[in-house]
Amino acid sequence: MNIAIMGAGLSGLACAITLEKNGVQPTIFEKRSKVGDRFVNGEVLLSIFTRPVHDCIASLSEQFGIYLQPVSNIQQMVIMSKNEKAIIEAQLGFTNIRGREEDSFEAQLSRQVKSPIRFHSEETYEQLLANYTHVVLATGDGEYAKKTRNFREDLTVSIKGATVEGTFDRYAVMSWIDYDMAPFGYGYLIPLSEKEANIVIAIPDIPSTRGVELEHLWGPFHQKVQSELSQPLPITDQFQISKYPMGICRSARIGNTFYAGNCFGSMMPFMGFGQYIALLTGVYAAYDLCGLGSYEELTAPLRQSYENSLVLRRAMEQMDNPDVDRIVRMLQGYLGEKLFQTKRLNPLKLASYIMRPYVKYKQGVTT
Ligand SMILES: Cc1cc2nc3c(=O)[nH]c(=O)nc-3n(C[C@H](O)[C@H](O)[C@H](O)COP(=O)(O)OP(=O)(O)OC[C@H]3O[C@@H](n4cnc5c(N)ncnc54)[C@H](O)[C@@H]3O)c2cc1C
Repeated sequence: MNIAIMGAGLSGLACAITLEKNGVQPTIFEKRSKVGDRFVNGEVLLSIFTRPVHDCIASLSEQFGIYLQPVSNIQQMVIMSKNEKAIIEAQLGFTNIRGREEDSFEAQLSRQVKSPIRFHSEETYEQLLANYTHVVLATGDGEYAKKTRNFREDLTVSIKGATVEGTFDRYAVMSWIDYDMAPFGYGYLIPLSEKEANIVIAIPDIPSTRGVELEHLWGPFHQKVQSELSQPLPITDQFQISKYPMGICRSARIGNTFYAGNCFGSMMPFMGFGQYIALLTGVYAAYDLCGLGSYEELTAPLRQSYENSLVLRRAMEQMDNPDVDRIVRMLQGYLGEKLFQTKRLNPLKLASYIMRPYVKYKQGVTT
């Protein structure tokens, strides 16, 4: 058995680490010049989205021997809608860095890998399949899954982000769900340190946002964050992604090809979280390759999480600012405390169960 992993990102590297632990050495093909050679951005691992696992950093090390150091553990999350504000205080998860920084998640993972990584790779999937017994597709998007007719694309999202300088509390993250500011989307601030943070705005590319330019939304969003923090927040770096696809593969494994990370469908349509699931798909693909389980069966709960998240995304598209205000008002009280603090509760599953009839009704009304 000789295994090629296409892509040295979260899922590809998690797969390599797990294979090595089981005595198998894969070859990793990465198109860029080094691991994480892209824009720097802050991401989060929120425990409400990784349930039943509450502390995914601890779980990754204890269960799978994958060691990651986040930037901080999140102790406060501020959620703002047009007229309401909820401040949630609890152990909510972690912030981490992605991209070309020394301590980005992909850089940390690559230091745990012993297998060769072939950078500047121009190898195609077809070439790898011809030369290796198994291929793990971990390229971070659905392109190959689409090309092999194995991907259901559900939506695309356009994203604009920047690194800003200022004074930040690294244990606190902020988010805005205000449809005047980001129609049917959201904005957020994630500190990278006490002196730098990432601010990002994202909107779905749906008929109701046709003609809306991210460029035009950006200025008012930046001003909103500046006034909320009472700081000038000068921009030191920027990125923009148009029509980032979100969807899920139809089969996690076809023949000797494994679809991992975003090629599987790790990115959750509701708010775009995908890191933890990307890591799990890498581990599970390796388990299957080592005869320790079936990839299709191991990923079945992840597929269900994706479908639940899609219901919430569709529900968001049916709401308006007063609806969002009502939800944020509820989160500020008893409900918010219970949702975020009760470890046994799976809010994603529960909310999608409650919202499913609403979405079906609304879609029926509008079609
Ligand atoms: C702006 C933004 C913000 C996000 N925020 C969050 C967040 O806060 N929390 C969260 O959980 N998730 C977040 N996500 C989602 C999360 O980053 C992804 O789900 C996760 O990184 C997917 O991992 P992956 O292994 O599939 O891909 P990646 O980690 O992106 O790795 C893919 C690798 O494949 C390489 N590659 C691509 N094509 C080829 C090729 N042809 N040959 C060889 N190599 C190739 C790439 O260069 C890259 O190194 C965010 C995503 C974006 C875009």
